[in-house]
Amino acid sequence: MKEQLIYSTKCWIKTSFQEATIHIKASKIYQIYTGKKEKATIPFINCNDAIVMPGIIDAHVHINEPGRTHWEGFETATKAAAKGGVTSLIEMPLNSNPVTTNAKAFQIKKEATKEKLHVNCGFYGGVIPNNEKDIEKLIQEGVFGIKGFLTHSGIDEFPNITKADLEKIAPILAKYDLPLLLHCELSDSNVPKVENPKSYKEYLTSRPDCWEVNAIKLALEVQKKYDIKVHIVHLATAKGFEIINKQKETTDKLTVETCPHYLYFNAEEIPEASPIYKCAPPIREKSNRDKLWKGLLNNEFNFLGSDHSPAPPEIKKIKEGNYFEAWGGIAGLQFTLPVIWTAGLEYGLTLAQMIPLLTEKPAKFLGLETSKGKLKVGFDADICVWNPSESFKVTTEIIEHKHKATPYINRQLKGKIMHTFVNGNHVVENGRLNILKGGKLLVKTNF
Ligand SMILES: [Zn+2]
Repeated sequence: MKEQLIYSTKCWIKTSFQEATIHIKASKIYQIYTGKKEKATIPFINCNDAIVMPGIIDAHVHINEPGRTHWEGFETATKAAAKGGVTSLIEMPLNSNPVTTNAKAFQIKKEATKEKLHVNCGFYGGVIPNNEKDIEKLIQEGVFGIKGFLTHSGIDEFPNITKADLEKIAPILAKYDLPLLLHCELSDSNVPKVENPKSYKEYLTSRPDCWEVNAIKLALEVQKKYDIKVHIVHLATAKGFEIINKQKETTDKLTVETCPHYLYFNAEEIPEASPIYKCAPPIREKSNRDKLWKGLLNNEFNFLGSDHSPAPPEIKKIKEGNYFEAWGGIAGLQFTLPVIWTAGLEYGLTLAQMIPLLTEKPAKFLGLETSKGKLKVGFDADICVWNPSESFKVTTEIIEHKHKATPYINRQLKGKIMHTFVNGNHVVENGRLNILKGGKLLVKTNF
């Protein structure tokens, strides 16, 4: 079914809601009609007053295939994405094996997606010590950016890098105007010895705010010196805003994201022995969360990404409850929109603030702004339809991630996804998976 009419009184067009009918044809948005328009020969969906908006673009996802497909794979992750209204995602270079640090590994990863993509999927490449010779080829093969860690990544095949390593690849990134994505934590030994590994407070203390701030300072130095695009992934400390905002006054090449779990949870409510909540940087105190929201509402984040990073229960140390031995990563790809919407209601978040952070803004960051991220004639027919006032409970039955272990389990969330269209395919219909394998590989080409 390649032709479709979608009507709602609330279609997000440009910067406001309008009553319109979106006409999809041959995987693109063919026309947008004002008001209700039905045609005898074309299937028509009446969404009444549900929100019709561009599909979510999640620029921060770990899928782990090939090599650690038992953690998460393209098949399950892209189903979860579709059910969450995500129509395009960009996959991180680590947690799979091989890690995506050279063109050959990138080829292997692309091959691993065959017949498994239910939403569109692109990739980042990775920088590790001594792979500077591989970076240019990775870029030419179509990665959307190069990701590096300033502290141990948790994956031995993906060691962290130093400023000297970044300086080796900065000229290559400058040549292609491609972003360097940095996990900003700079570890030091000034942290107390662990006494109780089941204590969340001890885990939080072991990765202090200053690790983030010190790493951000290094990232800003490199950005300034080489005038390259630098993107700070998953900012968890509000203490980072001041220096980031200051540098943003002088450049538009610095960007920053945060993730749903930092906006929804806070350290005070995380129980002992529950590493299901473990991620790095850690979820910090409520006072910090309040400041992250203040920054978000003040337009200080460039976009939001899930940082979906699941692992099997035995690697998450669910039984043992050991925060220090557990894998650090939160599974939540399917719930980005309702989590942010639910948490945001408490802070006065409006739809007009939220929608661009999930659609148009990540599209711009990725250089996809001429084909994705807007309901606009000629754009790809990637569309999400959802009801902001309907609630649902997260249960194992509805989760499409490979592992059902997520800190959102049993939470009541507001904002229910009704339909997802990917390249014009009606992938999710009334909340159920319908047409599969309609996703495409996204390759960065326009440099
Ligand atoms: Zn990540």
